[in-house]
Amino acid sequence: MSALRSPIVVAGAGPAGSLLAIYLARQGHEVTIYERRSDLRATDVDVGRSINLALATRGIVPLVEIGAIGRVDEITIPMRGRMIHADNDSTPALQPYGSHPHEVIHSVSRSDLNAILLDEAEATGRVRIEFERRLEAVDFETSTLTFHDGSSEPFGVVFGCDGAGSPVRKAIEAAGSCTSHTEWLDHDYKELTLRPGADGTHRLDPNALHIWPRGELMLIALANPGGDFTVTLFAPKAVFADLADATSVDAFFTDEFPDFAAMVPDLTDQFANNPTGALGTLRTDGWSHNDQAIVIGDAAHAIVPFHGQGMNAAMESARALAAHLASTPDDVAGAFRRFETDRRPDTDAIARMALDNYIEMRSGVVDPDYVAQRTLALELERRHPTLLSPRYNMVMFSTMPYAEALRRAARQSEIIADALADPDLDVDLLVRTLPPLPELDPLADPEALSVS
Ligand code: FAD
Repeated sequence: MSALRSPIVVAGAGPAGSLLAIYLARQGHEVTIYERRSDLRATDVDVGRSINLALATRGIVPLVEIGAIGRVDEITIPMRGRMIHADNDSTPALQPYGSHPHEVIHSVSRSDLNAILLDEAEATGRVRIEFERRLEAVDFETSTLTFHDGSSEPFGVVFGCDGAGSPVRKAIEAAGSCTSHTEWLDHDYKELTLRPGADGTHRLDPNALHIWPRGELMLIALANPGGDFTVTLFAPKAVFADLADATSVDAFFTDEFPDFAAMVPDLTDQFANNPTGALGTLRTDGWSHNDQAIVIGDAAHAIVPFHGQGMNAAMESARALAAHLASTPDDVAGAFRRFETDRRPDTDAIARMALDNYIEMRSGVVDPDYVAQRTLALELERRHPTLLSPRYNMVMFSTMPYAEALRRAARQSEIIADALADPDLDVDLLVRTLPPLPELDPLADPEALSVS
């Protein structure tokens, strides 16, 4: 058994890496972060995928804990429900996320949030961040990290927060402590921008997550503070393959999303110039190697983005790993193993729910059966607030373990399906058979972020 050995290194300064470094610093450790990119606070770097993200309770709790929530509040836009653009003729309709004012999710710029976490990490006085240092290899025999330019650094322990393509995970795999594979989705995505109107304001309601569900595909839009929206097309690869020239792109959007197409005069240029991204679920078995290395966040459990939980889950994982290290500081290898044993069922559960949510978003939201189930779930939650909460709400507005949310949701769905099939059934009696919902984490302050 041993304590964390110096030098303590975090690979990757994304949400998981910068947050984990803050937690380690708060436990008294000196930490060096090596980040592949340049400092996003100093340069207009391309941060890669997805310009804005949905922040929810599991990401908010650590931000409250580290004292950064006030700054984050200044850069978030609350979204109180899904605005469904059902077809080309009807008026968009809001499906609220919940019946309580705090049941909103928050649109936030990925880079602005990351910048706050980098500032907070440096403010601890114990975290040093080295940018433009792309880790290439980890040698566990010599405890040496090698970088893209051939330089090397010693390490005692390395935390791999280096995203889905993680070199740290590859080293753990090469050492025989991990196996992994990625299940690629047969759908891709592309981001577009809906610019502000002539008066500089948002052209759609900024306080909603807009969805144009079209069966096999969908468009979604999240507001940014500057008046624009980040809009994402999710569609089968075959659809993208057909959109090979401006004429087909123009025809596709005019046919499927005419209201959106009419607001974006440079749509075909954006479509041609912006990259198309792939989507996958990373399955891993074995997150750590002895007391020398562990992966967290996307490096261990990357998921598809349809529940808006990848970053929230990565931040929750950083907090959970820090708690394990704090509880057994002299048994790092044991803390790593216990963290994986505890956390894997949850990350497996959110991986599954994220895949399910794609179907819900692109077709369920306009299915009368789904709408009836969701309406009854919200009504039952109103009648039995300590016993039942819709699945979406357990995932987004609680810190209940994901695996428990999945289990509870399965039982709740049965009750709701039975009640809809048989109006004479005493549904309240059935709901009373459910065990009480767990208490909300004390840090899950419903007023932590502005909701209007
Ligand atoms: P990353 O954010 O990938 O950070 C990894 C860091 O490591 C980066 O800074 C990278 O530059 C650095 N790095 C990589 N390789 C190296 C190397 N070799 N050496 C040094 N540094 C390295 N999640 C949500 O919670 N809500 C959402 O609404 C949401 N929407 C999404 C939409 C899309 C289209 C996509 C693709 C994802 C979305 N996600 C969302 C998921 C979210 O982006 C990720 O889960 C989250 O960024 C994971 O954080 P991370 O710190 O683990 O990894």
